[in-house]
Amino acid sequence: MFKKILIANRGEIACRVIKTAQRLGVKTVAVYSEADAGARHVDLADEAYCIGPAAAADSYLRADKILETATRCGAEAVHPGYGFLSENADFAEACAKSGLVFIGPPPDAIRAMGSKSAAKNIMGKAGVPLVPGYHGDAQDAALLKKEAGKIGYPVLIKASAGGGGKGMRIVEKAADFADALASCQRESKASFGDERVLLEKYLARPRHIEIQVFADTRGEALYLFERDCSVQRRHQKVLEEAPAPGMSQARRNSMGEAAVAAAKAIGYVGAGTVEFIAEPGEGKNAGTFYFMEMNTRLQVEHPVTEMITGLDLVEWQLRVACGEPLPRTQDELAISGHALEARIYAEDPAKNFLPSTGRITHLSAPAESRHVRIDTGVRAGDTITPYYDPMIAKLIVWDTDRPAALARMRAALEQFQVVGVTTNTEFLARLIACEAFATADLDTGLIERHRAELLPEPPVAGDEVLALAALAELLAIERRAEERAAGSGDPCSPWGICDGWRLNQDNHHILVFSQGTREHAVTAHYRPGRFELELPGGRHSLTGAWQPDGSLTAWLEDAVLQANVVMSGQTLDVFFRGIRYRLELHDPALHEIETDAHGGSMAAPMPGKIIAVLTKNGAKVEKGTPLIILEAMKMEHTITAPGRGTVREIHYQVGEQVDEGAELLGFEPDKA
Ligand code: ADP
Repeated sequence: MFKKILIANRGEIACRVIKTAQRLGVKTVAVYSEADAGARHVDLADEAYCIGPAAAADSYLRADKILETATRCGAEAVHPGYGFLSENADFAEACAKSGLVFIGPPPDAIRAMGSKSAAKNIMGKAGVPLVPGYHGDAQDAALLKKEAGKIGYPVLIKASAGGGGKGMRIVEKAADFADALASCQRESKASFGDERVLLEKYLARPRHIEIQVFADTRGEALYLFERDCSVQRRHQKVLEEAPAPGMSQARRNSMGEAAVAAAKAIGYVGAGTVEFIAEPGEGKNAGTFYFMEMNTRLQVEHPVTEMITGLDLVEWQLRVACGEPLPRTQDELAISGHALEARIYAEDPAKNFLPSTGRITHLSAPAESRHVRIDTGVRAGDTITPYYDPMIAKLIVWDTDRPAALARMRAALEQFQVVGVTTNTEFLARLIACEAFATADLDTGLIERHRAELLPEPPVAGDEVLALAALAELLAIERRAEERAAGSGDPCSPWGICDGWRLNQDNHHILVFSQGTREHAVTAHYRPGRFELELPGGRHSLTGAWQPDGSLTAWLEDAVLQANVVMSGQTLDVFFRGIRYRLELHDPALHEIETDAHGGSMAAPMPGKIIAVLTKNGAKVEKGTPLIILEAMKMEHTITAPGRGTVREIHYQVGEQVDEGAELLGFEPDKA
């Protein structure tokens, strides 16, 4: 086994690799960007070196600096994680030139699968079934359009070099082809430095099923069963599971064997994933599968495979990279139980899953156990920046069967509470609970089809939530009064009394909470040993206290309410029965409640680069007209007109960097 390895990555995957390395007694070296100086992976590693500024191109993608660091500190091998340099054949080659083992497949295997088009050629020859489409070298727009016509709409345009759901466009009809192609090429050029595309028949309601393969340097290869990753948003996975519901043993074997054939066709070594799309349902084509691509690295969702096989895939990677044989044979592998993984992202499902950035001021997670595993690189106090993937954690659960695993996931999600950035945890909880997912009626359109159910209007705080918020604030008032009294040296001072006593006033407090544009007033009357609350739904008696674990217990009449309430400044985040309510405490004497005056704001939703200006000064536009395209977090965000009106002034040009909140252009709405 290696004595020391360098991990050329960050976040949860760097932490994940360090964990196994430490268990095997292998020393670890972390690299980090200036933005990650205080990151968890830096703390966990035995040694850590800064390799450059925040932007990935200046740090995590700097092969030269990474290799120099590895050589300088005496590492024998480099683990690339996923993303960044993990599928970069030149990097794998450069590792070998520097005398370092690249923990991954040989450069030629990476190259063979690096282009989706080339990969399809190879797989077609190896007899692996392919989605009907065009994956030729010729790329002129007219030819591509003709090919799309031959395939038949809808078609999917994919960046040949693509990954992570980027550089993909569904085109419904010929008239839309040219625009979609241009936008796909622009995004793939920006994200992958390569604008070549391929075309595929767009399958209605397919399932995404992938096979984990492993191969060693001795020519042995096997498969570690499948993962179902059909639940996606923006063509990106959010919820994965193993085994795939409804998979027959015969189908499992044939997909596994096709995947092993794919790996052998390219002389594969190490961990890889062969991705297929499969026809869903019960019809005559049900289960027919087509090769989509091969990922020549460890996948984000590898933990579900670990949970059902009891194996550590990072350990297998290290052993194989050392030249050891595969630790098991195909016959020695078996599936036990069912595992699910939910990706917890800093993103706003209500805003089309737009990444959310900011400092995580509070983070609490369920306890880890045989049933619950959390892979994360983030702690409370850390900042989700626009530079990297906004994933906060992977929540993985295991149990003996799917219904039991679902119940575990439901409970675990409820306990995963984050304040400071918007997250998708409630969205995930609704996803788990939705009928289609619960009954395993899975396909890649599930989220879109159930949008209304999955993305309901934010819940309005009812009496129970208002009572909890009021209790938290009343206890805070009491504590402040006690601190003042203690500080004044006169514990009997009337100014230290915290029963709402006021000169010439009734003993009560009026608390006004706002939730968006909605206001809720709660009057709290002080009574001996309790409060009496005037809530929108009536008068109720209230008592309660903070618990040693930081949660809040309230007795509202005879109902016991349990919640977590996180207070920061005037903001209260109430986590109650799996839902988070964000309330602003409003002191009527100090400010006016903000109205929705910013509805028409043309501000950048996040820091990014202007990549297209689609309008000009004085242009008259309709609601929804695309005005500016901003590239942020490697995605395109189109800023559209908020209503009918006139563009007054464009403040930025193509290529300029903008800060979050920067006004991009002046807009004058038409008078109604
Ligand atoms: P990436 O490498 O960016 O992840 P993939 O080629 O793996 O892209 O595709 C990602 C997802 O897009 C798939 O899981 C599937 O949901 C969807 N997809 C890909 N190809 C097709 C297709 N031909 N028809 C329908 N959906 C597709």
